[in-house]
Order: sequence, then C-alpha cells, then structure tokens
Amino acid sequence: MTAEVIVDIAHSEVDKIFEYRAIEGVEEGSRVRVPFGKMTVDGYVMRLKEKSDFGDGRLKSVTSVIDRALTRECLELAKKIAARYHCPMALTLRLFLPAEMRRGAVRELFKNVAVYSGAPVAVRANAKAQAAALEFLREQKRCGYTELCEKFGAAAVRALAEKGAFTVEKERVSRTPMRDAGGEAAARTLTQAQRGAVERIKSSAKTVQLIHGVTGSGKTEIYLTLIAEALKEGKTAVFLVPEISLTPQMFSQLRARFGSAAAIMHSGLSAGEKFDEWHRLRTGEARIAIGARSAVFAPVENVGVIVIDEEHDGSYASETNPRYDTREIAKMRAEYNGCKLILGSATPSVETYLKATEGEYGLIELPERINKNPLPEMIVADMRREVRRGNNSPFSAALREELENCLESGNQAILFLNRRGFAQSVVCRECGKVIKCERCDVSLTYHSEENCLKCHMCGATYKMLSACPECGGVHLSYTGTGTQKVVGELKKLLPSARILRMDVDTTSGKEGHYKILKKFADHEADILVGTQMIAKGHDFPSVTLVGILDADMSLHFSDYRSGERTFQLVTPVSGRSGRAKEKGKVVLQTYDPENYILRFAMHYDYAAFFKHEVSLRKATAFPPFAKIVRVMVTGEEESKALEVLKPVYFSLKEVYDAHPQDFLFFNKMKSPVKKIQDKFRYQVLMRIRNERLLPEIYERALREKTRDVLVYVEENPANLS
Ligand code: ADP
Ligand code: ZN
Repeated sequence: MTAEVIVDIAHSEVDKIFEYRAIEGVEEGSRVRVPFGKMTVDGYVMRLKEKSDFGDGRLKSVTSVIDRALTRECLELAKKIAARYHCPMALTLRLFLPAEMRRGAVRELFKNVAVYSGAPVAVRANAKAQAAALEFLREQKRCGYTELCEKFGAAAVRALAEKGAFTVEKERVSRTPMRDAGGEAAARTLTQAQRGAVERIKSSAKTVQLIHGVTGSGKTEIYLTLIAEALKEGKTAVFLVPEISLTPQMFSQLRARFGSAAAIMHSGLSAGEKFDEWHRLRTGEARIAIGARSAVFAPVENVGVIVIDEEHDGSYASETNPRYDTREIAKMRAEYNGCKLILGSATPSVETYLKATEGEYGLIELPERINKNPLPEMIVADMRREVRRGNNSPFSAALREELENCLESGNQAILFLNRRGFAQSVVCRECGKVIKCERCDVSLTYHSEENCLKCHMCGATYKMLSACPECGGVHLSYTGTGTQKVVGELKKLLPSARILRMDVDTTSGKEGHYKILKKFADHEADILVGTQMIAKGHDFPSVTLVGILDADMSLHFSDYRSGERTFQLVTPVSGRSGRAKEKGKVVLQTYDPENYILRFAMHYDYAAFFKHEVSLRKATAFPPFAKIVRVMVTGEEESKALEVLKPVYFSLKEVYDAHPQDFLFFNKMKSPVKKIQDKFRYQVLMRIRNERLLPEIYERALREKTRDVLVYVEENPANLS
C-alpha cells in the first residue's frame, strides 16, 4: 500500500502530498514519522491507495506510526478549510491537535508503579527503611514509585529494586482540569417555551437554528436538553462559548449534569491537561467537547448537535492563519454529520439575524425571562449635566444613590467599564505628545498598582516617566478612567464596601476568572468592577444593580460595527441585573443620551435596532450586504514590506480593473496602527459586492509573501486597526 502524507513543516514550498510505502498499522488519519531529506519528521496520512503514482520501487517507507490522531471527518474538514482559506495543509491540520502534542512535546502521562514481585529478598537487620518498604509492598502489592520514595526514602527503594523486590510498570494518568467543579445536578423540567423551542429545532429541516432569547430566557437549559438527547442517541456534542466569559462556570454546570462525559478545551489549561482532554474525546471516553473557538475542531465522531452560545461574540473569529469564522466551520461540521447547529444570543449579529429573517436559518424567539421577571429598570444618567454641576467623579448622582440603596439592602452591584488600567493614556501637557509603545504604534496605559506603563497591544511594561521623552516637560497628565481608578474612587465613596476588580490584569494565571467570579458568587464582595469580561454569561442572583460607566465608548470607534457592538455590550450587561426574585436596576451613564443605539438598548428593543441597522448597512453597502476584504502586508523592515506591497497591490489591481462593477472600494494604504510588535503594517483594503472574486484575491495576495514579509487576508475583520 502507498500512503499519501502531509509532512508537518509549515513552509508553503512543501505544501503538497508526499508518497511513502505504508507499513503495518498505517491508516487514513494516522500520525506517522517519515524520512524527509536528511531528517525524520511528523506527517499525517491523508489517504491510502493500492499503487503509487511514481512506481513503488522508488518510495521510502514510513518509519513508524505514532497514533491515529485524525478522524475521517477531520481529514474531510481540513481539505475544505485549506481550500476555503488558501492555507497550507500542514498548517490547517494543526488546528485539529493540541499544539503541544506535535513533535512529541506532550504525550500521555504515565507514572511508574512499583509492583511487588514476591521474589525472596534478603534485607540486612539494620536497614529499617528497606524492611518497612518491603513490608508495605507485600501488603499493598502496588504503589506509585514516587510515593514509595517519599514514604521510605529513595535509597531504600533503589536498593529494593536492585534486589528484585518489585518490578516497575507504567500506568496511564489522566490530568483532568477542574476535577472538583460541579457537584451533581439533574435536568430541570422545561417550561412550555423551552419545550416548544426544542421541538421546533428537532423537527425543522434547516441545519442552522438561531435562538434569539433575552438574557435569562433559559437558552442554556435548551442547549443542555439538546446535548442530553444527542448523548442518549449514542452521539456526541460540541458546545462553544466565548473565549473570555464563562468557560469555568459553564463547565461546572456541564460537569454537574454530564459528569466526566464532558471534556474541556481551553487555552488556560496546562499542556498535559489539554492533551488528556483531547485524548478522552478522541477515544470516546468523553463525548461533549466544551470550549472556546478552537473546540470547534474537537476530535469527536458522530456529532449529534453543535451549540454556539453568544454567537455574536468577537472571539469566534480567528486572528491567526487560517483566519476562519467559527460559525462557518461549525456549519461544515453540522452538514457533514447531518446534525443541527444552534446559534444562541440575546443580541444576534446583524448578519446572522438577517439570514434567520430571510429563512435561511430557523428562528426561535424567546422574548420572556423564565421567572417572568421584568427586565431591569433603566435609569439614564446624562453625564454632561453631571459635569455642569461640577461632578467630575466617574459616578453620577443617580448611580451613587442606587449603589448606596443596593448595598444597604444587602444586595450586590456590578460596575462595568470599557477599559482597564488606571488611566487611558499619558499626555505631555507642554508638547501634547501622547506616550506610545516603542514597538507598537499605540498609546501606553498607566497602571497605578505597579506604578508603570503598559502596552495593551504587546504587553510590554515601561517604567513610569517623570518627564516627556520628547520635550522634557514635567507636566504629564492622565486622560480617561480605568478600572483601577474606579476602584480607588469607589473606596473613597463607600469605605466599608468590599470591592473586587476583574480585568485582564487581575485574571492572569490559571483559572483566574473562576476564582474572582466564585468569590463574588459566594458574596465575599459587594461590588464587582470590571471590563467586558463581566458582561455576559454569569448568573448572580443577588445582583440588583448594574452601572455602565461609559456607555458611549465604543460608539466612537470608526468601524461600521460600532453601533452593533455598543448594542451587544449594553444589553447583556444590563441582563446581569435582577436575575432572581428582586427587580433589578441599571444605571447607564452617557454623554450622548439622544443616541439612537443607546435608546434601542435602553428599551431592549432588538427588533428596532435591527431594522435601523439593516437599512443603514444596505444603504451604505456594508456587510452583510458587501464584504470587506483586507490584505495585510507586514514585516520588520519597512522597505521589504513595501517591496511586497507593490506586487500585491498591482496583482489585485488587475482583478479590480477586470471587474470594477464588483468593487465598492479598492485602495492601498498604511494601516491605522502602522506598527505592532516591531512589524510595519500595510494594507490593501477592498469592499466587494459578492464573494465570487474571493478565491482569486486570496490566491494572488498570498502568492507574494516572502520569508521576511507576511501576507494574509482578512474577511470583515473585527477591527480595522
Ligand atoms: P439564558 O442562557 O437565556 O440567559 P439561563 O439559561 O441562564 O438563561 O436561565 C435563566 C435562569 O432561569 C437561570 O437561573 C436558570 O437556572 C433558570 N432556568 C432555566 N430554565 C429553567 C426551568 N425550566 N425551570 C426553572 N428554572 C429555569
Ligand atoms: Zn507594544
């Protein structure tokens, strides 16, 4: 037999099939070691066939078989993805394996176990430790080698081993993350609305189903029911949640319901944990893959349902090659498996909702909360009036009053703002210079706790400056309000309140989110202050007040989606309030109370928001009525990047000249952020009417990349910085 192999080297020069003579145990989907030039490298068997295209005599043989990592579906899917995003196969296949698994960086974890041999062993009378260890082994029969050494000392154990008192065996250990999460929970009896939704989804002929349900309408229970039914049919499930929000919480819920059948795939896990969870899914020991974006590639077979919660979330777009849209991949998988793809959101993306209203997707509306609790009352605080009254604190009078009431009645509050750090940026008041990162073209943020400046783009840390590096001026001022500053002001305002802060800085480290959220859920704090991470998903029954400190922030981004983003931000944050018995309140602080997006958000009026937004996008020919395509050219040397930009531009210009009617916009320029991590960034920006020309654009753009200059294509990029 001949094996068609993709070798795991990500240069485009070797993006082709190599043939090898198959050896015993080689199957389609096998991971193998193969000779390649002078080296031996990892490879993936894409296909087995009787005859080689070159004549069997010249073929080298596969060296060894590692495992059968890839399912038949993975192979099919990889081919589709590679073709769709013009991505080398070797790179595409990496999506399907935990990164650490390649090149043998992690494997199954084994521990050495000492197994009592029963052989007669002579121990000298004064070797007390040896005698005790021998006695222990005789009774226990087996014991972990390390434990044995800890108990009796390594020297004694080694001496016994030399005398043949025991043999050493390897035993597989499973590193299961959050083993103690959950407890046990039974399925709830569904409400009529939930039952109806489940039935409509199951009887619908459409693959993709959108559940548009207000926060607290019981979407999660619908997902869990569909997952349970898939398992009952002997199938598997994939459950995707946004990167930053609720993996641990959601996971404990699933653990409680499904026990060890649930496996977690999450970037915060250790390499070993990642591998073991992957392995449990691959072998079928676990049957539900839960995780962020990358879990869409989970190695489960015979999938019965795929769920994408908070489908509008930005984290579903990949920011590295291939730059896939998770919803698109999930749809391919649903079609392959003949199962349903469930998209859920309180604020669906305009694109998805449009497809649902046009009948391409099934649409289920859940307009009411489970407990029929009214949505929280919205109080709008006009911050212009506050400033006029001389209030320069981050809190309006209304918010202060509501905070006091809330804490007095023993409830909890969440304060939400859109930034982190103490202040947004540092400006020299003499020359006007904004202090920027040396490697990136973005302003630095002051962090008061560490008294330093940080770049939120690359993470670099700088010492606090005492003078402007440009003019030497010593009057540096801070603009904006960050989470640290809010916490500081809050402590002055409410000295007895217990305050927790949650943002990228306080949640680093394994399960960082989980710890903060758990503390808050256990009511060990009264107020949680945070950035978008606290916006969604969490269920805190005693939260009766939510304050949105700067509702207009994202309205001013120069991006066609800023309205949509603001709506998607304000609505779920508000949904955090009053989830249990007590009625909730939301204080929304804004400098622009007239703004239509905010008005729709205040009234939870998705329908009006959608209608307005769709007509605007249609009139201006923006997505989903057109597609924005950005070809990025980046490199450390500006001249080299420009050398590549030129042929990229001229090659694409040929497409434009041949089909001007398909283009709404075509130009080359510097990116708005012209340097990130020492790489200069140029772009060709296009807006096209349809996807007909997409393959040609990819093909022409990617052809020009060189060793030093990266070229990639983004479709409707999440940010145009
Ligand atoms: P969503 O995901 O739509 O925001 P959740 O699934 O979190 O809503 O449900 C909101 C609340 O209602 C949760 O506290 C949940 O435990 C509760 N809940 C959901 N379904 C039921 C049910 N069938 N019976 C009783 N309580 C339910
Ligand atoms: Zn930087």
